[in-house]
Amino acid sequence: MSRSPDQIIRTEVLSLSAYHVAPASGMVKLDAMENPYSLPDRLRDDIAQLVATAPINRYPDASAASLKAMLRAALAVPDGMEIMLGNGSDEIIQIIALACARPGATLLSVEPAFVMFRMIAAFAGMKYVGVPLKADFSLDIDATLEAISQHEPAVIFIAYPNNPTGNLFDARAISRIIEAAPGLVVVDEAYHAFANASFMDKLLQYPNLLLMRTLSKLGLAGLRLGLLAGGPEWLRELEKLRLPYNVGIVTQLIAEKVLQHRDVLLQQAAAIKNERAMLGARLAAMHGIEPFPTDANFILFRLSEAGHVFQNLKKRGVLIKNLDGTHPLLKNCLRVTVGKPDENALFLAALEGSLA
Ligand SMILES: *Cc1c(COP(=O)(O)O)cnc(C)c1O
Repeated sequence: MSRSPDQIIRTEVLSLSAYHVAPASGMVKLDAMENPYSLPDRLRDDIAQLVATAPINRYPDASAASLKAMLRAALAVPDGMEIMLGNGSDEIIQIIALACARPGATLLSVEPAFVMFRMIAAFAGMKYVGVPLKADFSLDIDATLEAISQHEPAVIFIAYPNNPTGNLFDARAISRIIEAAPGLVVVDEAYHAFANASFMDKLLQYPNLLLMRTLSKLGLAGLRLGLLAGGPEWLRELEKLRLPYNVGIVTQLIAEKVLQHRDVLLQQAAAIKNERAMLGARLAAMHGIEPFPTDANFILFRLSEAGHVFQNLKKRGVLIKNLDGTHPLLKNCLRVTVGKPDENALFLAALEGSLA
């Protein structure tokens, strides 16, 4: 008699709940940190042409050599550092965890942080340690250093800026973590386009540092392209776990084309930053709403009855993210992605209506 899934599937997988993506059709969609702008018509026509003539009967270039060369230049990856591409940075997190998952190995992060760090630790069968942030969402450096010496993590993930809080941690505190870490430290710069800070140039200083970026939050979330930069001695090992054709031909072609017009994406990021300032000021001016400082393309804010307001917003056709109940520090917190001016106006009006 054949066995049931709960006798075959690993226990850590059985106890996971699948990453939930809320249905959003017909809604003002401000829940997923997407860039709300589309590409200019001219560029879309060029992309259509590229896709029409792409050799999709062939396997893609497994080394993605020309795309990597363009990314290296565009992101100013230091000479001597290697890069690896992933099907989104999610896949890169998974590759790193799989590579580090010796029996008993620990993945450490802070909390609240990007939920995939914890989930992927479970996928890979790693132990997970989440060190709570302080109430203002800054790093608790003493607790973090203590946890590092206690658990000796194989790998530490830090998002910079952090998701879902939006803030940049103190760079000196991150440096102390890198210096104290017995293993790898991955600085995840998914929101780099909206922040004026990076650890890219620290790659040369710290041999145990890896730096992760993605094109998702910059406007290409549907393409699925993430990147890891770091020393060749690490990247050589991680490459062995990358499935050979993880970045398809269409992704390679479109990413190269868009990178030739990177100014378009950077202008969109600048517009998002302007809207972020407007939205933050409007939220701060509303009675009973406390927005937190952000260097990302979203704003976390606290109010009373967050769950109720979230549902009211949804009824009014505006989808944001309810973080209440996901972590004690996020009690009564909602997260809104910065949209286009008209979307932000709809959100603010719906929020005012939902509070009343
Ligand atoms: C969105 C996000 C990612 C995932 O990006 P993809 O490249 O789309 O997989 C990674 N890290 C953080 C902190 C994020 O917020």
